[in-house]
Amino acid sequence: MSERFFLSSPPRDGHAVLDGQEARHLTRVMRCRVGDEVVVFDGGGSAWPARVARIGRDDVALEVGEPVHDPERSRGRVTLAVALPKGDRQKWLVEKLTELGVDSLVPLTTTRGVAEATPAAIERLERSVIEACKQCGRNTLMRIESPRGLDDVLAHCGVDTMSFLADGSGDPFDHSLVAGRPAVVLVGPEGGFTPEERAAAEALGATRLSLGPYILRVETAAIAAAARFA
Ligand code: SAM
Repeated sequence: MSERFFLSSPPRDGHAVLDGQEARHLTRVMRCRVGDEVVVFDGGGSAWPARVARIGRDDVALEVGEPVHDPERSRGRVTLAVALPKGDRQKWLVEKLTELGVDSLVPLTTTRGVAEATPAAIERLERSVIEACKQCGRNTLMRIESPRGLDDVLAHCGVDTMSFLADGSGDPFDHSLVAGRPAVVLVGPEGGFTPEERAAAEALGATRLSLGPYILRVETAAIAAAARFA
């Protein structure tokens, strides 16, 4: 068995415990037995080979081997600030951004936004990040940040961070613009950014960025940006 499972706390002294949904997945879906081998990761960039030592009612005890650490990053951090779409499209968005290596997702609060990032919605998105990491082999979780407005996102990004507003009227992506620096890309809601939001973003230093000649759905625009930056 080479299935991957998420550890809510890293191993100690060669031992780890899976609980909650992860334990249920291993026992009820994978029908594991004592002695089965799995891989566990802690979301902080490390993974361990592990062997099932004990199967409890609500948890599974594991013996873990030597850790494997993610390689040093060779690019700047990439943050996508996205006016979330509705329903299942959120899950799809999070899955793809995780697979593409985006570091953080900020649910962007906008005038024309249609989906509210409630605490329950954020929890669902975090669970989708874990599921995507399990499936794609990523050991560092994509961070789901607190919902924020465009001004807040742009005012608090670091001095060397390049910021972009995804907008069909902008210039196409140019690698030399970023050159290993951290980047933040803002993607608007289905109704688009208002003229005031566009002006505010530019006043705070964001550059308009075109992602192609057609009007993209929110999640397509976010994924197209991730594929260029991450
Ligand atoms: N009618 C809206 C407008 O005029 O902006 C369309 C909004 S689009 C469905 C949702 C978001 O995706 C936009 O606010 C923008 O951030 C991004 N987007 C869509 N197409 C894009 C493109 N070709 N280039 C860059 N960003 C795009």
